[in-house]
Amino acid sequence: MTADFRHFYQKTWAERTAIVAEQAQLTPAERALFKKYYLPEHHQIIENYLTDYPLPMGLAVNFVVDGQAKVVPMVTEEPSVIAAASNGAKIVKRAGGFKTTLNQREMIGQIVLEQLTAPAETAAVIEAHQAELLRVADAAHPSLKKRGGGARRIRTRVLGQGYLSVDLFVDVQAAMGANMLNTMLEAVAKSIGVLTKTDPLMSILSNFATASLVKAECAIPVALLQAGRYSGKLVAAKIAAASTVAQIDPYRATTHNKGIMNGIDAVAIATGNDWRALESGAHAYAAKDGHYRGMSSWTSDGQTLRGTLSIPLPVGIVGGSIKINELAQLNQRLLQVDQAGDLARIIAAVGLAQNLAALRALVTTGIQQGHMHLQLKSLALAAGATPAELPAVLQQLELAPQQDLATTQRLITALRQTKEETND
Ligand code: NDP
Repeated sequence: MTADFRHFYQKTWAERTAIVAEQAQLTPAERALFKKYYLPEHHQIIENYLTDYPLPMGLAVNFVVDGQAKVVPMVTEEPSVIAAASNGAKIVKRAGGFKTTLNQREMIGQIVLEQLTAPAETAAVIEAHQAELLRVADAAHPSLKKRGGGARRIRTRVLGQGYLSVDLFVDVQAAMGANMLNTMLEAVAKSIGVLTKTDPLMSILSNFATASLVKAECAIPVALLQAGRYSGKLVAAKIAAASTVAQIDPYRATTHNKGIMNGIDAVAIATGNDWRALESGAHAYAAKDGHYRGMSSWTSDGQTLRGTLSIPLPVGIVGGSIKINELAQLNQRLLQVDQAGDLARIIAAVGLAQNLAALRALVTTGIQQGHMHLQLKSLALAAGATPAELPAVLQQLELAPQQDLATTQRLITALRQTKEETND
């Protein structure tokens, strides 16, 4: 069956859901899901809106960042992310907490010129008119200057093959700034076009946010790292070794960094931030010297394990959909942040805590021990266990030779049969 999706964006919500239901031959129960998660105001956020897609939100605890105790709301569907963040933060709390550094918070946008025969000369013309171009940028979004922000400087980079990038640095204050910057860039591009008699190829923010770097650090006495039969000193040495592997091997670096982003994305989503922007910037920064590396590094001198994470975190506390997202607002209250930079500092600490917990588990008991309890819970629920059946199912599943869906379903069936027989 082929439903008619023409002018779908002009349809009412009832018409849209009816078309989709017809196309996919949805049952009434399936169709009811559209209604269940529907929020009328979300029509204003995206196109062709059908319904919301709920993700679990929880709280990571034990954080101390720059001397302040923090709890951190996280939105994630992955079991053990919140437990690991809280666990890593607990160790660092005992060691005095995280210290962060944030020297600069500017966004960079690009205007790309093409087919230049003398790009260096074109660059020189643009540089010579820097003050005038900065005024054009500010005039395109004047409220930013009134708030103390605005265009700061212009840099030119000859890219080769006739291309020139004109980079505009803007203090975007409390916002992430992508839209504001794009507006400014388009205005500046027009002036550059007139000035250089060219037709700029494109104007857009760069997600390689190297002017919004945040550093989180911690120094942990090795005794705090002891895990089971592993001494703290040995754990510290193994964490440092794991960090070295992430610096030299991109296969390991990718997974090392995925663990860091587990925490960072979860806070970004919880605060209404653009996690795709953070992801792309973070991975580009991890490859800044031409070799993809772990974003964090850990060293041990046998007494103290020192961890550091430097990462671009262009986050906002206003702008985008933040103001219309009640939970993003609530989460800012839970985090007690009223400056974008402070949110970035906490997020960097979360990334480092997440990384510490993952590496400590990895080099000692292995990642599965902590993961599996929660994974098995998800498996049991997916296999149809009710919350009341969970404890018994999990107990048997932990002992089962295979921990897969079929085994879990068999266990649930057997459990229900035993219960029926007992009731008889
Ligand atoms: P907005 O377009 O919403 O602009 C920020 C808004 O915040 C402005 O309306 C501004 O008001 C208001 N504001 C209120 N208080 C402040 C303050 N103290 N400091 C700064 N602004 C304040 O959002 P952004 O420009 O931040 O852009 C973010 C959005 O852009 C995200 O949704 C992102 O997904 C999206 N995006 C991302 C791209 C990318 O990453 N490549 C590309 C394009 C879009 P006023 O108007 O009065 O100044």
